[in-house]
Formats: sequence, C-alpha cells, structure tokens
Amino acid sequence: TTLAGRSRALIRDVPDYPRAGVTFKDITPLLADGPAFSAVVTELAERTRALGGVDLVAGMEARGFILGAPVAAALGVGFVPVRKAGKLPGPTLAAAFRLEYGDATIEVRPDTIPDGARVLVLDDVLATGGTAAATADLVERAGGVVAGLAFLLELTFLAGRDRLAGRHLDVLLTEA
Ligand code: 5GP
Repeated sequence: TTLAGRSRALIRDVPDYPRAGVTFKDITPLLADGPAFSAVVTELAERTRALGGVDLVAGMEARGFILGAPVAAALGVGFVPVRKAGKLPGPTLAAAFRLEYGDATIEVRPDTIPDGARVLVLDDVLATGGTAAATADLVERAGGVVAGLAFLLELTFLAGRDRLAGRHLDVLLTEA
C-alpha cells in the first residue's frame, strides 16, 4: 500500500472530542508505528528539500514539534518551536487568534530567526488555518521569510487554505 493509504489507516477518528460535534483526528496510532512515522517524516523532508533553500523549520506546539523536529534534523537545518503563551523564556513575539474551539495565543523567540531566513512552517493538521496563519505572521514579524507550510493532514471542509492564500502549501493527506 501507499504511504497515504497506510498513514490514513493509522489516523483515528475520535467523535465529540474535545467538544461535542467535533471529530478529532488522532495521529497517535501513526506516531506509534515506526515505519509509518518514519515514512511521513521522510516525505515531509523530501517536499521541503524540493522547495529549496529552507534554513529553518518552525513547528507548532505540540504535534508540530513531533513532526517538525525530525524533519529539520533530516534536512540538517534548525528547529524553531512555536509555543503556547507563557512557555518560552523571553524575549518573545506573540500572536492571538481564534481556534476551531476557543482562542489561543502563540509565541516565538524572534532571536532564533535570522533576518531573511527562509522558514518552513510545519504542523500535523490544517483545520481552520488560524494556527498556521498566526505562525506565518509571527515568522514574518520576526524577520523571516515563509518558504512554505507543510501538513500531514488537511481538513478541507474547514477551508483553512483560504487563510493562507498566496502561500506555498504541501499536504500529504486530505479529508473532506
Ligand atoms: P486550526 O488553527 O487550523 O483551526 O487548527 C490547527 C491546530 O489545531 C493544529 O495545531 C492542530 O494540531 C490542532 N488540531 C485541530 N484539529 C485537529 C484534529 O482534528 N486533529 C489533530 N491532531 N489536531 C488538530
């Protein structure tokens, strides 16, 4: 079977999580499967390499860390954690945004992103696009250039892509 087929089978639908009416895509079975996890990291790294000249990978807490750090290491580039508010020692830049369920603030250390650095933004799931749009904004406010954004899974019915118009997107799986 293909990478997409095997990965899809390892993403579990959790009904009514974390709220009634929301079906959460749980990637923990995929992470626990060595060959599938490795194949996903390799594919994300290949797509990032194809973008050319990426200097840093920025991953969002928490599952963007799990996927983004091994992708950065595979490419031999640095990793920048984009954290939930209050977790990073300063100085930080912050962005507040609306989530599928609730509000959130994320932070980054601008001194970890050199001026003009080309940054790949990476997360597990693209849902409404709020997290990704806020992260891209933070990277740019820090002086970086968003080379592209990559996701394991895009929930197309939430139209997150519309909030990332004009940006390069790589998505391994889609769910309508
Ligand atoms: P968005 O900001 O695009 O609405 O939500 C994306 C963020 O929330 C990502 O950081 C992602 O990890 C998390 N997220 C939202 N929905 C899901 C989901 O169904 N499954 C997983 N694994 N993460 C989700």
